[in-house]
This record gives sequence, C-alpha cells and structure tokens, in this order.
Amino acid sequence: MWQVIGQDRILSLLDYSLKTNTIAHAYLLVGPRHVGKGTLAFNLAQALNCDGPEVPCGQCRSCQRILESKHADVISISVDSRIESAVTSNSLEHKTEIGIKDMLELQRMANLPPYEGKCKVFIIDDAEYLSTEAANSLLKILEEPPQMVVWLLLAAEEEHLLPTIISRCQRLELKPVPSERVQEILISSYEVDANKAKLLTHLCHGRLGWALSALANDDILEQRSQRIVKLFSLLPAGLEQRFAYAQELASQLSQNRRAGAEIIEIWLDWWRDLMLIKGGCREAIINVDYDRTLEEQARGLSLSEIEGFLANLCLLQEEISKNVNPRLALEWLMLNLPGKELSIKS
Ligand SMILES: [Zn+2]
Repeated sequence: MWQVIGQDRILSLLDYSLKTNTIAHAYLLVGPRHVGKGTLAFNLAQALNCDGPEVPCGQCRSCQRILESKHADVISISVDSRIESAVTSNSLEHKTEIGIKDMLELQRMANLPPYEGKCKVFIIDDAEYLSTEAANSLLKILEEPPQMVVWLLLAAEEEHLLPTIISRCQRLELKPVPSERVQEILISSYEVDANKAKLLTHLCHGRLGWALSALANDDILEQRSQRIVKLFSLLPAGLEQRFAYAQELASQLSQNRRAGAEIIEIWLDWWRDLMLIKGGCREAIINVDYDRTLEEQARGLSLSEIEGFLANLCLLQEEISKNVNPRLALEWLMLNLPGKELSIKS
C-alpha cells in the first residue's frame, strides 16, 4: 500500500506503469520540501522490489528492508549525507553540494547487477545540489541508462537542475495537500488535539511531512519560536545589531542555503500575516498562536510600511534562489526594517 497521502494522480500513474511494466529509467520528483517526495521515492523503490501480491505491500522482507534502509539495492544520497563507501573526508564537515566523488561511486554501483532485489534504485535527494561536474556525470548515465536501474531525483528547486537532466526524466510534481485534509489526518490518524492540529495545519503550507516532523520533534516548533523572537529583537535594535544579524544570516545562507531559506520563509509568513490583519483578513493568518502580537504590531505599522518590507523580503528570496551572495540584500533589508518597540504575546 502506498504511504504517500494526497498525491492520487501520481499514484495512479505509477500503478499503471508498474502493471504494464512501463516504469521509466529515471523520475524527477519535484515539490516543496516535506511534501512527500522522500516517502514516495522509498515507496516506489519498495514497489519495484516487492514480493507481495499488491505492490508495494509494505510487509514482505524486501519492503521491510527498504523501510529500514538496509536493502543493498536501494541507495539514497542527499546533500547532508554521503554514501557509506564514499566517505573520504570528515563527516562533520557540512556539505554544500553533492560532488563528483559521490556520483562516480553511484555510477560504479549502477553498473553492478542487483544484489538482493529485482531492481537497483538510486535516490538522489536535493538533486539541485549536484555540482556541475556531478550533474554532467549523471547526465551521461541517463543518456545510456544501465538495465534494471531506476534513478529517482528529488528536487524542491527544479530551476537549479540542468534542463538536459530534466528532459531525460519523467517529471512527477507533488502538490501541497489541501489544509482540510492535513487537519483531518492529524486529528483522525495521529490523535492530535484540535488546537495543535490547527496550528500545524497553518504552519505546514500543505506539506504534511513538515507537520508530522513537527509533531515528532518539539525542537522544530521551539526553533520557529526562537526565530520569531529574534525577528522581534531586531525591530527596536540599532543599525549595528541589525547589520551583525545580516552578516550572521548571510554566512548561514552561504553554508547552508536551506536553513537560511527557512528563516526567510518564517519572516515572509510573519509579514504576510501583518498585511492580512491590516486588510481585515485575520482568519487567514498563518501564525495563529501569535495572533495578539501580530495585531498589536499591525496597529503600529502603516500598510505601505508592511507592503514595502514584504516586497524587499520577496526580492531577497528571489536572490537566494538565484544563488547570489545575499549579504547586500540582507543589509538593505535591515536598513528598511520598520522599527517599533513591541512585546511578544502568545
Ligand atoms: Zn512488499
């Protein structure tokens, strides 16, 4: 049984391809982070190696081993991890890309026949982080795909992939799950109380995986609160403190674009909420647990101040997605941050 929720169109297509034996040699799974790309990739790897009557059964030895990441023929790599046999440098060092060494190792493995299953599956998470050299090497593999091998490329920022790689894959786009469905799943399948389910539903933007991670790990909501508090401490702060933060965030973005981008997303949600409150649409806000703080802050700001800052934030997000050094844009943002002394109420 498929574990992916809310992606019915994709699942019917894969079911059909599995039944008719027309599985592509490479798929590109695109969609926002935590929308379910990883779950779908491992589920598909199970379906391709399953020994049960209805694939993926989730029960057979093969499905179980894939679930436990123990199956020799299902190899997964991401920017935060490296394939075990390719460990060459200090594993504590944060990687900013998937390099050629990892890709050559995958290529070597792909040329060997399946060891314990029917089909080798290579899952490249964060495919947009492939170095140019690694991407070119992957392109060569996809041009002459080895037999009994399926490549699954996962990407949240498809625009960073080589168009030639995209054109060699069957593209599957995972859509955010509608809010009502997320809330219903949280309450009925995970027994989350109504208030928490409402908060997680608002914060996850249709990415059920994010809501489930936040449910399993309190640090995620705690970290969000810390980031909001930080945002607040900057409002009454002088330029020196604001620029120091711009520098801190810029260096974070250069080391770990994803974590930096998450902070910008929190800022965007916050300032969009302020605009919604200013426009009389309080019921549509994301940060429902900070509604009083938002209302008080919105009272102290004009609509043009909010719109102006939001426009700068969008510009910053665009620059980050283009991989431009964001320091100047961040300093510009800090210069234009409206400053009002406020307190947090939650
Ligand atoms: Zn199975």
